[in-house]
Amino acid sequence: LMRLYGPLTSLSNVHVDVMTALVSFDRVFEVLDLKPMVAERPDARPIPDGPVEIEFDDVRFHYPEASEVSLASLESVARPDTGPSQEVLKGVSFTARPGELVALVGPSGAGKTTTTSLVSRLYDVNEGAVRINGLDVRDATLDSIRDTVGVVMQDAHLFHDTIGANLRYARPEATDEEIWDALRAAQIADLVKGLPEELETVVGDRGYRLSGGEKQRVALARLLLKAPRVVVLDEATAHLDSESEAAVQQALKTALRGRTSLVIAHRLSTIREADTILVIEDGRVVEHGRHEELLRRDGAYAELYRTQFTG
Ligand code: ADP
Ligand code: MG
Repeated sequence: LMRLYGPLTSLSNVHVDVMTALVSFDRVFEVLDLKPMVAERPDARPIPDGPVEIEFDDVRFHYPEASEVSLASLESVARPDTGPSQEVLKGVSFTARPGELVALVGPSGAGKTTTTSLVSRLYDVNEGAVRINGLDVRDATLDSIRDTVGVVMQDAHLFHDTIGANLRYARPEATDEEIWDALRAAQIADLVKGLPEELETVVGDRGYRLSGGEKQRVALARLLLKAPRVVVLDEATAHLDSESEAAVQQALKTALRGRTSLVIAHRLSTIREADTILVIEDGRVVEHGRHEELLRRDGAYAELYRTQFTG
């Protein structure tokens, strides 16, 4: 298992970066605005109100071939050649009940990112269904999916614009006070206060350069401002310095509290707190349960845990 984690991580993430780059041009930073992938049905309905339950019902999925979507040509440049329409998810079933934190773990390339991208209907499943509050996402309005599901992927991209503007993409009518509340909850307010022009400070390559961990916290602040009922999150570890670690952890806790959450987890603290851990290998859920329970089982999770967290 160890072998799967090291060098492969960077290789298999190349295509994800391409997607992330595309996503970053989107006004609200959400995958849904890549509309070429899916269409809204004429009789689409909004996702039912109330606390959210997410259900994956025997989901099978392969990425569309080049002829099927315009974006695929871009992706195929960057992704390792795995041949056409190789099945990536091979019958994934699970339920995230209202308010539950579901952590996805497993080797690189197992299908974790793919699974989470189906919640916000970046792609449509080939077989089975993804349902939110009982409604198949293919029957939901795109607006209601976007309002319901908040996404923070691994590399949080910010616009070359002010911090205030970056947050207002989530909610244009937000007051400065609400913006500061969100920044505080995301443990990044002090840093912003220390900047020459506070909320008006321009960030990005040609502006003030935030570290990876700082960017992710700004992205979390944006998520908090939006206050979606569902949070889909890919925890980043790559660029986290240890001093921001505790701050990010606190920000994550706040962002996930009370929300139905699907988290691609890299932090032991997140995994320990998860109501359900899904161990994904080769497009399948091979184990599920809580941390202690899975450790006792001494199977795939226990091995993963030993290689990942105890060196
Ligand atoms: P994980 O997040 O667990 O590392 P992914 O869901 O990113 O796994 O990838 C699962 C499989 O799907 C891998 O074989 C990967 O190469 C492939 N894949 C991921 N994204 C795309 C894409 N946009 N186009 C084609 N294949 C992809
Ligand atoms: Mg991934």
